[in-house]
Amino acid sequence: MSEGKVYDCKYEEKDGEYFLELVDNPSIQSEGDDLEECKIDIYFQIMDWNGDGEAALELLPSHSKKTKMGIQLYVSASFNDWTCIKDKNYQVYKELCPTCKYGINGERNDALLEITCKPRATFSGVQGIYPVILIYSDRFMSLLTAEEQLTFEKRPVLYQGKECGYWELLPKQIVKTVGPKMASYMMSGNWECIKCGHKIFDPEMKGYRSGSHFIKKSDIDNLPSVFFIDDRFLKSLTIRNDRWNELKQFKKETRGAISDPVILLEPQYVVENPPMKKKDTFGWVDCKA
Ligand SMILES: [Zn+2]
Repeated sequence: MSEGKVYDCKYEEKDGEYFLELVDNPSIQSEGDDLEECKIDIYFQIMDWNGDGEAALELLPSHSKKTKMGIQLYVSASFNDWTCIKDKNYQVYKELCPTCKYGINGERNDALLEITCKPRATFSGVQGIYPVILIYSDRFMSLLTAEEQLTFEKRPVLYQGKECGYWELLPKQIVKTVGPKMASYMMSGNWECIKCGHKIFDPEMKGYRSGSHFIKKSDIDNLPSVFFIDDRFLKSLTIRNDRWNELKQFKKETRGAISDPVILLEPQYVVENPPMKKKDTFGWVDCKA
C-alpha cells in the first residue's frame, strides 16, 4: 500500500486524442479526447492496483523514450556556438595537468572568464580552456524559476572588461556520465591521460543519437529537477524533457539553444569506467582570438 505517490506516466497526444500509460505498470492505460478524464481513469486504475487513493501523475512528454537499457527523461544543455577565452594563459582552473592541459577535476578558481567575441546563441562554449566552459545568456536565465536557480551559483562573463549578459554557472550538484554496456568507443576523441588519468569518452550506441549522455539512474535519486552532468569535456545544465519543452516555447530567450538526450541507465547496463586508450601526447588546435 503506497499512498500519495507520484507516478510517472507516458503521455502522447495525437490529433486531439490522448494516450496515457503508467511506466511502473504498463497494463494501466487510458485513451480519450479529454486529458483530465484520462487522468481520473488512471487514478482509479492505480487505486484498484495498489490501493493508492491519492496518487499524483507526472506526465512525461511524448519524446521520452524507454528502451531496454533505460529511459530518456532529461536533456542537457548543448551548443553549436563558440566563443574563445581572451587570454589562454590566464588560469581559470585551480590546477592544470602538465600533460593533457586539462584543469584537474575541472575545479575552478575565482577568476572571471573574459571572452573574445559575444556569442550569438543563448548557450555558447568557451574555447581555449579545457574542460570547455558553457555559458548561458541573461535571456535564458530569466526563464528559470528561483528554485531552479538555487541549484547553481552564477558568475558574470566579461567582454571588453565589462559584464556582457552571459553567465557561467557553478553547479552545486554534479552527476558524472557513465558508459553504457555494449557501446563502442572507437572514435579517436576517446582517451585517457597517462599523467592525471583524465578520461574523455563519447559512447557510440546503435539506437541512440550521437551525443547522448548516459548516467546511472540511482545517481539522480533525491536530486532537484535541475542538476548538472559532467562528461569531463563539459558540465551542462540538465533539465527534464517536459520543462525543456516549456522553455523552448520562449523562442527569443532560447534562441539557438540545443540539447542532448540524457539516458538514465538501469544498473545492469552501467559501465562506470570504460577502458580508454591511454595517451601521453596531446596536440591541441589553437582557437583564433
Ligand atoms: Zn592529464
